[in-house]
Amino acid sequence: MAGRIVLVGGGHTHVHLVEAFGKAPLVGWRVLLVSPEPKTAYSGMVPGVIAGHYRREALEIDLERLCAAYGIDFRLARAVGIDRTGKRLHLEGGGEICYDLLSLDVGSASATNGIAGAVEHGLPVKPVGDLLDRLETHISSKGRDGPERITVVGGGPAGIEIVLALRQRLASASLALVSAGPLLEAHPPGVRRHIRHVLARRAVDVEESQAVAAIGQTEIELADGRRLESDLTLLATGAAAPAWLAQTGLRLANGFIAVQPTLQTMSDPDIFAAGDCATIVGSERPKAGVFAVRAGPPLAANLRAHAQGRPLRPWSPQETYLTLMATGGRHAVASRGAFFVAGHWVWRLKDWIDRSWLRRYTC
Ligand SMILES: Cc1cc2nc3c(=O)[nH]c(=O)nc-3n(C[C@H](O)[C@H](O)[C@H](O)COP(=O)(O)OP(=O)(O)OC[C@H]3O[C@@H](n4cnc5c(N)ncnc54)[C@H](O)[C@@H]3O)c2cc1C
Repeated sequence: MAGRIVLVGGGHTHVHLVEAFGKAPLVGWRVLLVSPEPKTAYSGMVPGVIAGHYRREALEIDLERLCAAYGIDFRLARAVGIDRTGKRLHLEGGGEICYDLLSLDVGSASATNGIAGAVEHGLPVKPVGDLLDRLETHISSKGRDGPERITVVGGGPAGIEIVLALRQRLASASLALVSAGPLLEAHPPGVRRHIRHVLARRAVDVEESQAVAAIGQTEIELADGRRLESDLTLLATGAAAPAWLAQTGLRLANGFIAVQPTLQTMSDPDIFAAGDCATIVGSERPKAGVFAVRAGPPLAANLRAHAQGRPLRPWSPQETYLTLMATGGRHAVASRGAFFVAGHWVWRLKDWIDRSWLRRYTC
């Protein structure tokens, strides 16, 4: 068999596939990457860009260039639907692309969690490229000290990293972090204590176990009825599935594409999915870049095996993993299970890991 493999989205998983199919081409097959942007941003270094530790370009992977370097076709387009019977990918604006095998790595969006005014007045942290553009515009429009009061909604790692990066950048702004549940709910007590201490030391007001009910232009309303001034409200509220996936007819799990341990969708053997947009039924994991990165090698191997008519191998993502959280001022916290360490050297380790990963895809 020969044909065309279409990779939709240039996320953390698919950049590996570009490299893998470039280094060891599948004889008789063409590989095409479809992305709405020529460049993709690496989320792990976003807090570092906000804090001013990195230039914006430092976290970008030039997908067009990466594809050219590995002999992979590239098409600048946004997928909006799939005709599974005709094996066609529908594109925004009316075009379509024929495929034999399809793989989806289109990421996730920031969840609005039913918060009134979130779409109109909130600034989602995903996609991260848009976040950085809009944040920069907002900060420069407010002058050197930035907006007077910024609220970050979400008490997970992304919300905490962003609020502490903002503190690093905007020394005199009033910063608040609002979390519907306890801060870092899935983390060990030691890490949570440490982070609470850092937030207090860096003058971030924390509202824990307090949901945001509504976001307005200059204030937010909490579930208990209190109103807080907020010139800018960021949404770090967890991952939501891209809406267009619901129209594909593929089986979904909470809106995300339900896949088998082979990363093959439950509904169509010729369609695979990985990263935030997919959920492995029976091996559900948090929506984190670490899993998207690790899905690269098994996805490449199984797409290759399927194209060649060989049996596929199941993949089970690890249950515990190293979390690295930047806490501002070139400090970071590392945790795995109940164990955690913090300090400048942890930030240097995170910096080294992030840069090493990016270097692989920067030609
Ligand atoms: C501020 C922040 C910090 C984070 N830090 C960490 C961290 O330190 N460690 C960690 O493990 N996780 C972290 N995360 C989570 C991490 O960002 C995600 O889990 C990760 O990006 C998922 O990778 P992905 O490949 O699924 O998607 P993404 O990296 O989001 O890539 C998706 C790609 O698909 C493209 N795309 C989207 N829609 C379409 C479409 N319709 N058609 C074609 N292409 C499309 C996009 O342009 C994008 O290039 C962080 C998240 C945020 C917001």
